[in-house]
Amino acid sequence: MHRARGHDVVNGCGRFAPSCTGKAHPGTLLSALLAWLDARQKNLSFLLRYEDLDPDRCRAYFGIHLSEAMTWLGLDWDQEEKQTDHIQRYEQACDSLADHGVLYACSCSRSAIRAVAERTSDGSYRYPRTCREQLVTKATWRTCPWPLRVCIADDVEMGDPVVRRRDGAFSYQLAVVVDDAEAGVTRIVRGSDIYPSTTTQRALQQLLGYAQPSYQHHFLLLEPDGEKLAKLHQSISWSSLSSSMSAGEVCAFLANCAGIPVESSTCTPKDLLDVFSWDMITCTDQTVLWQDGRLQKI
Ligand code: GLU
Repeated sequence: MHRARGHDVVNGCGRFAPSCTGKAHPGTLLSALLAWLDARQKNLSFLLRYEDLDPDRCRAYFGIHLSEAMTWLGLDWDQEEKQTDHIQRYEQACDSLADHGVLYACSCSRSAIRAVAERTSDGSYRYPRTCREQLVTKATWRTCPWPLRVCIADDVEMGDPVVRRRDGAFSYQLAVVVDDAEAGVTRIVRGSDIYPSTTTQRALQQLLGYAQPSYQHHFLLLEPDGEKLAKLHQSISWSSLSSSMSAGEVCAFLANCAGIPVESSTCTPKDLLDVFSWDMITCTDQTVLWQDGRLQKI
């Protein structure tokens, strides 16, 4: 138990873990708001973790942008960290997986996998374990030129996850599990687009002997064409949003999309703490439109 800044004694930790791959958009703010409301209402501490491991797509200035957008909306957090500071942890986790005899080098090309693999519900490919016998050890995995995978239970839909890429970058699936455990995260709130990864992450937690957090996945905001709002396709960014809407208006808009009753056209995240409950949060994705400098729900 520890004392979170400005809050009462807490006995757990929630988090928001945005990838630093683009600018904050309304979907980012929605996810941050719901994770914050959940943590603050349960009196958990709240961690902001920048997921910045992918050298091709992540930029430090996106992290700065994300935290500015959160502060603007009225969110706060007790600690922050970035994944590129945690390489040693991921290496130790790989040592441990190698010791368990479940870490292997995968020399299959993408096209070879695509030719034979089953598709999963999120459209990716379930690796058919072709290279399962190519185990690596604590002494050999670091110099392996191939992606490294972990053999996990057969019933995990996504199949054996890559934990280290060919270019040496540790994967999201490994890093998220290691970091949540290291930070003592007990509660994970995130978009339903990540739901298919949850069983993979639970399997990794089990192999690494970590405690299992509880999960809550929430609805998504969609573009009018049905695509989810995403940093990568440059959905309306917080910079444009904040030039014509106030933080209070955006907060009330997001609350309204979520199904949280708000009496006025502006509010702060703190105003929502008394009324927020998961029972009232919609399970249906909501389509939003940016028109004449306003966010609109359609
Ligand atoms: N970094 C992921 C994203 O921005 C979220 C990771 C997580 O919440 O587990 O979509």
